[in-house]
Amino acid sequence: MTAATLRTGSAPPQARPPVRPASHDQAAPAGAGDALLQVDGVTLEYATRERVVRATHRVSFDVHQADRFVLLGPSGCGKSTLLKAIGGFIAPREGEIRLDGQAVHQPGPDRIVVFQEFDQLPPWKTVKANVMFPLLASRKLGRKEAEERALDCLAKVGLSKFADAYPHTLSGGMKQRVAIARALAMQPKVLLMDEPFAALDALTRRRMQEELLALWDDVRFTLLFVTHSIEEALVVGNRILLLSPHPGRVRAEINSHQFGLHSLGGADFQATAQRIHGLLFDQ
Ligand code: ADP
Ligand code: MG
Repeated sequence: MTAATLRTGSAPPQARPPVRPASHDQAAPAGAGDALLQVDGVTLEYATRERVVRATHRVSFDVHQADRFVLLGPSGCGKSTLLKAIGGFIAPREGEIRLDGQAVHQPGPDRIVVFQEFDQLPPWKTVKANVMFPLLASRKLGRKEAEERALDCLAKVGLSKFADAYPHTLSGGMKQRVAIARALAMQPKVLLMDEPFAALDALTRRRMQEELLALWDDVRFTLLFVTHSIEEALVVGNRILLLSPHPGRVRAEINSHQFGLHSLGGADFQATAQRIHGLLFDQ
């Protein structure tokens, strides 16, 4: 395999992207119409007092079971807004979002978000209590089962020893591991991650990417991951949706399953990163 396969085929970068690029993809798994998550022509807007800000314009993509699907685009292109809409926190102005064929209208425990900020853990709860909390609050599990599930998930992210620690005693990377364990414990249909490693130092960020991939290998959850880093998108994703600058429109969708930490710095990786840069920023 040489470079990443562009879903837009031979279309030049400046061509308008197709509205539903995924439906033309020969590499899509059988039954592509039955995608787990369908984002269909979604326009998202914020109404401020003075004007309406359009965050995304008719964005479409499909996420399949066990995908590591990445939304990649420059700051302000509407990535976080898309996650909020998938989370059910804001309603599309146009289009529809469907999970398992059901239109998304409100938040639910089948979609959990991990954010960039290190302060997403209530500081007065221990690590274990933090992971247990959503399980108990949503009445998914009783106390004993919730504790077992929490300890199991903490083991998966290498934090068994810190179950009784409080968040302020942990490093940024460890706090993010707790947030990931807490999200996984809920066994969501799709795990949403909004630049979860962006505030970490470079080495910790690299290790977190490695651990996330190992965790995915183990659990095979469905991941929708947001980043503005081309390199991170290529390392983490098996498929990448490229979004134009504000308001976000689909520029292209690429397959990137052949890239990972092993391919960093390789010629093929560099060439693909360059190509993505061109697709994102060339007019
Ligand atoms: P990204 O996550 O890709 O950086 P966002 O989704 O945060 O982008 O923002 C997309 C656009 O929507 C930006 O122009 C931003 O200024 C605007 N925006 C985001 N949140 C709000 C809000 N609460 N009110 C008004 N405009 C907003
Ligand atoms: Mg954002």
